[in-house]
Amino acid sequence: MADQRDIALTEINHCNKCGFCLPACPTYRLTGNEVDSPRGRIALVEGVLNDEIAADEGLELSLSYCLGCRACETACPSGVQYHRVLEAGKAVLDRTRPRHRGMTVVPRTLLRLTKSPKRMAQLARWSRHARKWPVPRRFKELLPMLTYQPESIPKAARGGTDQGGVAFFRGCVQEALFHDANEACKQLLEAVGYEVQVPLGQTCCGALAWHAGHRDEARALARRNIEEFEATGQIPIVNTAGGCGAMLSEYGEVLADDEKWAQRADKFSARVRDWSGVIADLPQRPRFVGAGERVTLQNSCHLVNVEGGGDIPARLLGEVQGDTFVPYASQDRCCGSAGIYNIQHPDWALRLLDQKMVDVSHQTPDRVIVVNPGCELQMTLGVNRAGLSIPVEHLARYLYRAFLRGQRESENLHQV
Ligand code: SF4
Ligand code: SF4
Repeated sequence: MADQRDIALTEINHCNKCGFCLPACPTYRLTGNEVDSPRGRIALVEGVLNDEIAADEGLELSLSYCLGCRACETACPSGVQYHRVLEAGKAVLDRTRPRHRGMTVVPRTLLRLTKSPKRMAQLARWSRHARKWPVPRRFKELLPMLTYQPESIPKAARGGTDQGGVAFFRGCVQEALFHDANEACKQLLEAVGYEVQVPLGQTCCGALAWHAGHRDEARALARRNIEEFEATGQIPIVNTAGGCGAMLSEYGEVLADDEKWAQRADKFSARVRDWSGVIADLPQRPRFVGAGERVTLQNSCHLVNVEGGGDIPARLLGEVQGDTFVPYASQDRCCGSAGIYNIQHPDWALRLLDQKMVDVSHQTPDRVIVVNPGCELQMTLGVNRAGLSIPVEHLARYLYRAFLRGQRESENLHQV
C-alpha cells in the first residue's frame, strides 16, 4: 500500500505549476504572495518530502494559513488533489515540530468537546451568557452564537408519497448550536415522504480533529459512525452541515490504510448526501413560498469543492416564490470560518470575512442563507461587523418555513 509521502508525491508530479489555481485561492487573493498560494505550498511540501529544504517555520506558517477550503482542487485543470499534499506536509510537521499547530487552549478544548454531544450542548447553553465571561475580547467577538436562540420548529402535515428512508447525521456543532436547523430539515424530509432514521450512537464526523492533525482520533470517530450507520442498511446518509458532509464522504480516504475498515468506509461514503440534494431530486418538488424578501447565500466551500452538489442551494433558493434570490460573485468562496481557522488565525479570517461582506452588502439582502454551522457563526459575525441588521439563517430553516407557507396557501385556496 502506498504511504502518505508517495501519495503526495504522485499528486505533486501531476502539478505542472500552471498557476490556474491561484485566483481561486482566498489566501493568495488576500496577500498576493506565492507562499500563501496552492502552488507555493505544493512547492514547499515537495522540497521537504525530497529532503531539499527543512520543515521549518516557513512551512509551518504557509500550511497553517491554508484554509483547507479546496477551491484550488476545483480550479485545477490537472486534477491535483491538493489536500493530499497538505496532509503529507502537516504529517512531516507533526513529526519534526510537534508543537507546530499553534494550538491554544480554546481550539484544544473545542476539539475535545466535539467528541461529547452532552458537553457540546452544555457549552452552547453556557455560551449564551458568555458576554459576562472574563475571556479576551477577540473570542467574544468570534462567538456570535452568544446571541443565537434556537427557534421552536412546528410540525408539518405528512403529505408526500413514500420516498423511502434516509439516515440522518446530526453533526456535533450543528446539533448543539443549531439543532433547529436539523429539526427543520427532518420535518421537511418527513413532510415530503421520507422516513427519517436517526442512529443514536453516532458521534462527531471527525473533521475538526482530522484537519488539526489528530488523525487517530478522527479515525476512531469515523469507525464509530460507520458502525452506527451500517445498522440502517443502504439508505442515503443525509446531513445539514457542508463541512461534515465532506468529511463523511471521504471516510474511504481517511481509513484507506486500515485493511479491516477500508471497504466499509468506502461503502459508507458512497451513501453520503447533502440533504438539499435529496430535496432537489424529488420527482415533484413541493411549493416553497417566501415572504417577499431579498435573499442571498453564503455557500459551504466543502459542499462546493468536496462533497458535490454545491449548485443546489442556489437552485433551491431560486425556486422560492415571492422571494428574490440575489447571488454575488464570491458566494462560493470561503468566509474564513474553516473549522477552527477563525480561532487560530482571527486576523486573516476577519479580513476574508470583511471583504466578503462588501459583496454581500451590495446586494442589499434582507436575509443571508448558509448551509454550514461554521459559516452561520462567521456570517453572523460579518453581518454585525458590517452594521447590517439582517438575520443569518440555515437553508433548512428558511426552506421549511417557505414550505409551510406554501402548504397554508394551498389549503386556503382549497377552502375558497
Ligand atoms: S495545482 Fe493544478 S492549477 Fe495549481 S499550479 Fe498545479 S497544476 Fe496548476
Ligand atoms: S485549500 Fe483553499 S486556502 Fe488552501 S491552498 Fe487551496 S484554495 Fe488556498
